[in-house]
Amino acid sequence: MAPRLVLATHNAKKVGELRAVLAPVVVGLDPADVVSASELGAPEPVEDGVTFAANALIKARAVAAATGLPAVADDSGLAVDVLGGAPGIFSARWAGSHGDDAANLALLLDQLADIAPEHRGAQFVCAAALVTPDGFEHVEEGVLRGTLATAPRGEHGFGYDPVLVPDGETRTTAQMTPEEKNAISHRGKAFRALAPHIARVLAGERA
Ligand code: IMP
Repeated sequence: MAPRLVLATHNAKKVGELRAVLAPVVVGLDPADVVSASELGAPEPVEDGVTFAANALIKARAVAAATGLPAVADDSGLAVDVLGGAPGIFSARWAGSHGDDAANLALLLDQLADIAPEHRGAQFVCAAALVTPDGFEHVEEGVLRGTLATAPRGEHGFGYDPVLVPDGETRTTAQMTPEEKNAISHRGKAFRALAPHIARVLAGERA
């Protein structure tokens, strides 16, 4: 079957998470309907927005234009209270080299070494954007609040998962199964909110 929806990401772990989140909540969507931008060879645009929403829209617009299909994109990151919301949109390149999760995590833990547990509040933030080739656009945001551990724990997930302990939890998100994390995550929330709009676009209606 021809693809019907493109995920504007080149991160294989995100593609897996998004397929799992969207398939059960977008009525009539088969996981095989969903392809990633890398599978279609779509180019990666420069993410020069200054908010998560702006960057999500930049990515979705570029992929919708390149493929002629409705595109969804997310932009996400970790916002640390005591750092005034940083690393924020710089989360993936906090230690300088884009995508080096281990270096980013080590730098963040170093920066917060003297910060007491009661001041280690932080949140994962995700903006999810839907853009159609004919110019319809919609953005939803989701947040997962928690506290930063002082040392990494857990093997699942990616990025800062080994240090974020969600409110009401004792485990980090890296100690949760993908299903447990999706149920509460910033990305799960944003994409579940976007799902009815995706369903309407795929049904040929305006969202
Ligand atoms: P993006 O790929 O431009 O959205 O950048 C996301 C960056 O934020 C990742 O490289 C991670 O460092 C961080 N991040 C976003 N979502 C998560 C998550 O669910 N777990 C851990 N880190 C995350």
